[in-house]
Amino acid sequence: MKKRILIIGAGISGLSIARFLADMAEVVVLEKAEKAGGLIKCDLIAGNLFHKVGGHVFNAKNETISEWFWSQFDRDQEFIKAKRNAKILFNNKLIGYPIENYLYEFDKETVQHVIADLLQIQSATPKAPFEYENFEAFLVGSFGATLYNLYFKPYNQKIWNTDLSKVALEWLEGKLPMPDIKEIILSNVMKEEEAQMVHSTFYYPRRGGSQFIANRLAKNSNIKTSSPVNGIRKQAGNIVVNSTYTADAIIYTGDVRKLHKMIKIEDADLQQALLDVTMLKSNGTSNLFCECDENELSWLYIPENFTSAHRIIYTGNFSPDNNQGSSRKTCVVEFSGKVSFEEMQLEIKKLPGNLTPLHHNYEPNSYVIQEKDTRHKIARLKMQLEKHQIYLTGRFAEWEYYNMDKALEASLNLARHITAI
Ligand SMILES: Cc1cc2nc3c(=O)[nH]c(=O)nc-3n(C[C@H](O)[C@H](O)[C@H](O)COP(=O)(O)OP(=O)(O)OC[C@H]3O[C@@H](n4cnc5c(N)ncnc54)[C@H](O)[C@@H]3O)c2cc1C
Repeated sequence: MKKRILIIGAGISGLSIARFLADMAEVVVLEKAEKAGGLIKCDLIAGNLFHKVGGHVFNAKNETISEWFWSQFDRDQEFIKAKRNAKILFNNKLIGYPIENYLYEFDKETVQHVIADLLQIQSATPKAPFEYENFEAFLVGSFGATLYNLYFKPYNQKIWNTDLSKVALEWLEGKLPMPDIKEIILSNVMKEEEAQMVHSTFYYPRRGGSQFIANRLAKNSNIKTSSPVNGIRKQAGNIVVNSTYTADAIIYTGDVRKLHKMIKIEDADLQQALLDVTMLKSNGTSNLFCECDENELSWLYIPENFTSAHRIIYTGNFSPDNNQGSSRKTCVVEFSGKVSFEEMQLEIKKLPGNLTPLHHNYEPNSYVIQEKDTRHKIARLKMQLEKHQIYLTGRFAEWEYYNMDKALEASLNLARHITAI
């Protein structure tokens, strides 16, 4: 008899693990929303494609994940390969990204300060990124106080909305290119882009944006949408979900902080581990979908405080198909936290590109904030849950700063673990 596995959540984590386990188990996916996708969901707004959160593009360094992903799609026919063209809006000017490679675009005095900082860093004992105490110490220690105060502090504080000295460093791994002073000097002297840049090129679906990815991965799986899970208990060795579904194992991909209200299993250690994660911190984002003037950009970062918006994602430039309903291009303006439609409309008047609002969305869970003991708490909880055949995978289930490729990797690793049991 095949194992019955119930997956909670049809974001990329739930959809992919459903596929990884399809041959060895009878799999059902329960999704509370009306359609699959989670954070990568897109809607059509009068013919234009709206990424409700961010503007998802795909890249995978891990070869197994890359191979698996491209076995699900026809890369040449269904995707566009694009070059990243990101800029930073600073003093009403567009500066190249990453900022440290474009110092020549700043005034002489600023550059002198930055060079003095970098020389000082170079003459000190070298430190590996993870030897720093926290995110703030890492940024100051790697780029110097001038660049930190000019860009890294204001930009990151806008996004994270939290004290950067409380943010742990583990999440950085593979997310940001680690600064190398020789590379910085070389890029500035030769005016060449750094080949190591995360997402220096990326893939994007020709049609349907990241919703296309979700829909393809959902194909042939048994997904029940509009099915929120609110109760998990044990009965005669089985796991019973919502008093309706019976399973041998559960894979949870939703917000781990909500599990303690869902799981009704008498196990003091498990209940304590569930309680320990209820205080984890996260940030939401508000997105304003807009029409904009033509430009060549993919992302525009906005560190300065003249506006509360922190970035514009030019999703209309990712694929021409994304602007079907408009004679202009479309983009998404991103704000940290919950910002009203009225406030966002006022804010975009301060931004370049003659932005005209089309639609908006608030996503309460976008960014996980990792603190020093977060990974330890999640590891302890996973151990307690596994005693009851309950497993976690995904950005908010594991409280990891996963991009899609990392979420896929985590799902594959969990599928292998479950298959081996
Ligand atoms: C602003 C932003 C930009 C990003 N840009 C990129 C990018 O360009 N490229 C990239 O690779 N990654 C990007 N990411 C990361 C990417 O979005 C995530 O890695 C990925 O979507 C996480 O998928 P997930 O399945 O783990 O979680 P989610 O997408 O959150 O899925 C969880 C699912 O579980 C469902 N669920 C929760 N609770 C329940 C319940 N009780 N019952 C039933 N269903 C439930 C939810 O409705 C949801 O559908 C970005 C993220 C953000 C926030």
